[in-house]
Amino acid sequence: MKHLSLLFILLLSFSVSFAQNTQRSIPGQQAALKRMQNLYDSLSPMQKNMFLTEIKHIMVPEVTIVQPGRTDDDPPSDAIILFNGTDPNKEWQESGFGPDRKMTLKPAVTWIVKDGAIESSKGSGSLTTKRSFEDFQLHIEWKTPSVITGEGQGRGNSGILIQGIYEVQILDSYNNRTYRNGQAGAVYMQYAPLVNVSRKPGEWQSFDIIYTAPRFRNDSTFFTPPRVTIFHNGVLVQNNVEIQGPTVSPGIPQYVINAHGPGPISLQQHGNPVAFKNIWIREL
Ligand code: MG
Repeated sequence: MKHLSLLFILLLSFSVSFAQNTQRSIPGQQAALKRMQNLYDSLSPMQKNMFLTEIKHIMVPEVTIVQPGRTDDDPPSDAIILFNGTDPNKEWQESGFGPDRKMTLKPAVTWIVKDGAIESSKGSGSLTTKRSFEDFQLHIEWKTPSVITGEGQGRGNSGILIQGIYEVQILDSYNNRTYRNGQAGAVYMQYAPLVNVSRKPGEWQSFDIIYTAPRFRNDSTFFTPPRVTIFHNGVLVQNNVEIQGPTVSPGIPQYVINAHGPGPISLQQHGNPVAFKNIWIREL
């Protein structure tokens, strides 16, 4: 109680002094500051700690309340649901080669929706969100085929293209040797995952991706590069790495200044049937 009384007196003194400062001359302000300093100096070390702690407790604005999902894989209340097993055409569009061999948007998504998941069909194109994003937290679950065909990069290959240009690799990396910076959880051709935490083919796996978009100056001559953190099946595989530039294949990514605004999320069609489900995103 004694401590609280002291704190109250101090806070009152500070308030009165600051109020007076607005009306007083410089000498008056100096006198008020001196009085505050004397009061502060008269406190014991513990009282000083209590006082400093008190003034550092920030109460407003209150932290926004978000209702968490039923499990940590379920979307919280502020998430945008990108796919939950229903019509994919609401949030996604599909690109593909038209009869004239030009890349075009298809009238509707041709990927197959089944058992709450969506899977690329033979001859389909990549899916791209209709919305565009900057900084985000993305949850996505994916599954490569249980029947193994192909090897290396030809086995369960897909990918998540952040802002349409930076690829996080999806691959069946369970007992499937390939270059380290091209396996599941890699920032393709830039960063290998910290560990290989792949589940067996045919089992559902998850990525949780935290992405910070690049910042550009008006003249595009300088930017803060994009950064990404990735959890694969709940395990950290990319720790806030600095993306070096748009993914290119074949070729070596260049750290190119290439100003762009918000961009979509794309699910890569790489010729292998890969399924996705429970896709949600939070804009940050
Ligand atoms: Mg890929």
